Amino acid sequence: MRPIKVASAAGTGGSVPVECCQVCGHAPLDDVLSLGYMPPVNQMVPIGQPARQQSWFPTNLMHCRNCDLVQLGLAVDPVIIFPPDYPYTSGTTKLLRDNFADLQREAAAMLGLGKDDLVIDVGSNDGTLLSNFKSGGHRVLGIEPTDVGDIANARGIRTVKRYFGLDVARAVKHEHGAASVVTAANCFAHIEDVHAIVEAITELLKPGGVFISESHYLIGLLDTLQYDTVYHEHLRYYSLASLQHLLDMHGLEVFHARPIPSHGGSIRVYAARRGTHKVQDSVQRMLAAEPRGEALARRLTSFRRDVVLSKLRLVAMLHELKEKGARIAGISAPSRASTLVNYVGLDEGIIDYVCEIPGSLKIGKFMPGTRIPVVDEARLFSDQPDCAVIFSWHIADELAPKLKAKGFRGQLITPLPVPRVL
Ligand SMILES: [Zn+2]
Repeated sequence: MRPIKVASAAGTGGSVPVECCQVCGHAPLDDVLSLGYMPPVNQMVPIGQPARQQSWFPTNLMHCRNCDLVQLGLAVDPVIIFPPDYPYTSGTTKLLRDNFADLQREAAAMLGLGKDDLVIDVGSNDGTLLSNFKSGGHRVLGIEPTDVGDIANARGIRTVKRYFGLDVARAVKHEHGAASVVTAANCFAHIEDVHAIVEAITELLKPGGVFISESHYLIGLLDTLQYDTVYHEHLRYYSLASLQHLLDMHGLEVFHARPIPSHGGSIRVYAARRGTHKVQDSVQRMLAAEPRGEALARRLTSFRRDVVLSKLRLVAMLHELKEKGARIAGISAPSRASTLVNYVGLDEGIIDYVCEIPGSLKIGKFMPGTRIPVVDEARLFSDQPDCAVIFSWHIADELAPKLKAKGFRGQLITPLPVPRVL
């Protein structure tokens, strides 16, 4: 059942190439797109420190013709991509907070969850997802290896600070009992040995327990040209078909799936042990709409071409602005901004600074791989640069009106899917 060889970079202090499919073991994988070499998105050098040598890693997207999983061609040691001071907290965008509230409402209603039901979140970050289940009156437990877990503990969401695996699953089950629901939002693409994770999640579940995963959705990624979500944290890019293939290998059956707006387009997938839950029509509906095999290969080829064109268009637009002497800032520094900035080749000569909302742990640091400083967004309103590129363009509808209401008078630009002035 396991692939012949899991690409494991953990403990190497470096990286290892992915030589066969991370899910089914098929080799060789087909090349989809190369974004060149990239710095780790979460290693941000504090402003004031001199530039030092740093590792950059090849960033290639590959396609498995056997199970249709699209995946990164390189695994980087988690110590490098998830440093203990990992500056990401999921509680910061309204869209994500709303999504997790919706997840709790949907799951509680559909599964009839009560106060004795235990909900465990794997990769629970600052506890934002679980806080909804706690408010809903269920028992909750988070598992989060980084220091962000302290924030969750401080707000009363009990969180085990360990890397998730079979031993942790057994220990947690022993202490707290089996879970009615295990959730994994956007960490399901991160962990190297995905089979070990599904095995450990299955171990945590009651016989009729349900695993709910939220993953960035490959088809949405292709449709809206989100190459900027390709970075080393994201080892795998799932369609429903490839996710179903993986879960099926562990006796889990997908019984409900639907698209959700998180991260510019994700899927929420409900799975349980085969035969324990009635499979809803939503599963077949989504599967029928997905390109598979040859059709997916062709779709990936056109994706590559469109990514290259979008880079050239953005460069042309910024070139024209610079010729006219415009000053350009950036709005927000999510991980995806690092991929965009480095792939397109933006530097501090083009982008004066990038703004983050007050309280962001990224303020006072440079954008990865560059000397573009990240500053408090107050600077945008006092400085009034001619234009600003919204790097979290996937939530531009939420951000743009706020920036205007707070007094920004310049042009706002979204870089993807097609660079345009709002
Ligand atoms: Zn495969």
